[in-house]
Amino acid sequence: MEHNHAQRGRVGLIFTKLDRAGESILSSRLGLKTTAVEVTDDLDFWDAVVEQRTHGRRVDFLICDEAQFYLPAQVEQLARVVDEMEVDVFAFGITADFRTALFPGSQRLIELADRVQVLQVEALCWCGARATHNARTVGGVMVVEGEQVVVGDTEAGDEVSAESVDYEVLCRRHHMRRMTAASRDAVVQAAPAGAEALPFDIAVCPVPPRRVIEVTAAEAAGLKDAPGS
Ligand SMILES: [Zn+2]
Repeated sequence: MEHNHAQRGRVGLIFTKLDRAGESILSSRLGLKTTAVEVTDDLDFWDAVVEQRTHGRRVDFLICDEAQFYLPAQVEQLARVVDEMEVDVFAFGITADFRTALFPGSQRLIELADRVQVLQVEALCWCGARATHNARTVGGVMVVEGEQVVVGDTEAGDEVSAESVDYEVLCRRHHMRRMTAASRDAVVQAAPAGAEALPFDIAVCPVPPRRVIEVTAAEAAGLKDAPGS
């Protein structure tokens, strides 16, 4: 996109935050290796554009990658840059975290954007369905609790240590059932030889057990309070 704009003689700035390929390198989605400005919490997009123009530099557009990590206030600055300075802003990012909750920055973007576009997702869940949800694994095991922002620290081929954090995209069904490719593989290996039809849906991938425990506790309380027991 930056290339297309540059071809037409337009000039832009590129921003990113916590990019896994290293600070100031825009790697994902756009398929470019371009120097980008790292977005820190104290960066003000309005001031950044004013600064450029004060020095006589043109700014026609901003490309904002990993925008899910931006502060809601920074997203509001971007809207103001669009409205008051007639700069086009193209923000890219994922909407939801590993617990399926919106990132605050993504939420504010969805609230304020002129246009929200779902990019064609190429990734597939291990089951073949379109991968729509991000799962976090710690030491290879899927987790649904923890800090919202933890940058993954394993590269493909790295040893997975007990603490290493990684991400895997799953379909919603397998996210809800906390079933990653690795846990599927473990099930396949544990299955008796020749067993082809694996009971994925009921026996092997139960819904998370927390609810079962709550119901059990409630029942236990009910039994205790029941007259005559
Ligand atoms: Zn799936």
